[in-house]
Amino acid sequence: MSAQGSGAAAHPGQLATAAVRALSPYVPGKPISELEREYGVTDIVKLASNENPYGPSPAAIAAMHAAVASAWLYPDGSAHELKQALAVHLEVPAPWLTVGNGSNELLLMLAETFLNAQCSAVCSQYGFAIYPLVIRATGAACLEAAAHPPAAAMPYGHDLAAMARAVRPDTRLVFIANPNNPTGTWVDHEALRSFIEAVPAHALVVLDEAYYEFATLSGCPSVLPWVADHPNLIMLRTFSKGYGLAGLRVGYAVSHPEVADAMNRYRPAFNVSNVAQSAAIAALGDQEHVQVAARRIVAERERMAAALRALGVPVAPSAGNFLMVEAGADAPRIYDQLLRGGVIVRPIGGYGLPRHLRVSVGLPEQNERLLRLLGPLLPGR
Ligand SMILES: *Cc1c(COP(=O)(O)O)cnc(C)c1O
Repeated sequence: MSAQGSGAAAHPGQLATAAVRALSPYVPGKPISELEREYGVTDIVKLASNENPYGPSPAAIAAMHAAVASAWLYPDGSAHELKQALAVHLEVPAPWLTVGNGSNELLLMLAETFLNAQCSAVCSQYGFAIYPLVIRATGAACLEAAAHPPAAAMPYGHDLAAMARAVRPDTRLVFIANPNNPTGTWVDHEALRSFIEAVPAHALVVLDEAYYEFATLSGCPSVLPWVADHPNLIMLRTFSKGYGLAGLRVGYAVSHPEVADAMNRYRPAFNVSNVAQSAAIAALGDQEHVQVAARRIVAERERMAAALRALGVPVAPSAGNFLMVEAGADAPRIYDQLLRGGVIVRPIGGYGLPRHLRVSVGLPEQNERLLRLLGPLLPGR
């Protein structure tokens, strides 16, 4: 090749598929190190990524240390022991399980396995941002059902009737986060069962229970008991939130074994590290740790919601470890002022909610710091 290269190589980005070029990248919460660099602030509290401030079980940390010694070996690609542990814990057969590098990878695997440019997938307005991303990357049409209006009991939440109407003959996947991120809202359990039963057999329903450990304490039950009787239902969970292992990247799907088999064909050969598999097994064995943290977080969430409402701020009901707060037209300025005060929250303008901020529930003293900073910044103050 000449020094200048070919004309095409001058713009190698143009070689990406049209579907990928049209994507807007996912914007994560601002990392602590970035805020330190940009604003020179120290003693930072991050309430931006729904991480669990209680962290993982000490047993999981010990298992990670022990597993590091075998990091020179490839991990067990089939995650046999982790699947056995999950099978016992969930009381499901191991062949129903698929383990992913976070549930994010499972979402990618589902899209790559079931979608192409000839089909469509349904998701909800204000739904989790990764769904449209994985759908559109395959060239499939992303059918976004309108969410409930702001004044509804579940403001901005999934409208199952609208989602059912959005399903077309070419629809292969329907994505529901329950509870949903960033809204925190959830769907009625009986309505959800009717929805799953009414969806035609050519569409699989992906029920993302990333916040299960908090949801189960908040009146938002799991669909796990339905998987056996509903071959078109796929339940996703993760170790990132309730188990405090977001940095490790482990999630899993429970589905009909034929769905698991199909996903396994595309799964990267060694997608979950040996350190992650060992930690997840140990974490599963310490349910007490998970339960204590989840109970504290749910109690704090309700305390914070009440404190915010007392300040006159509308807060959506939440079954997760976070709250969606209506900060008003000044939301971007409030976000910036909080950053200067050392507290990182999540702006959600990218979700079409520019007047709202999403706030993860932290330790009590962290939440207090947020409330103290927020009070004087709010509308009308
Ligand atoms: C946080 C979150 C996940 C978890 O993603 P991981 O890749 O498992 O860390 C999945 N779905 C939703 C709706 C989430 O908010």
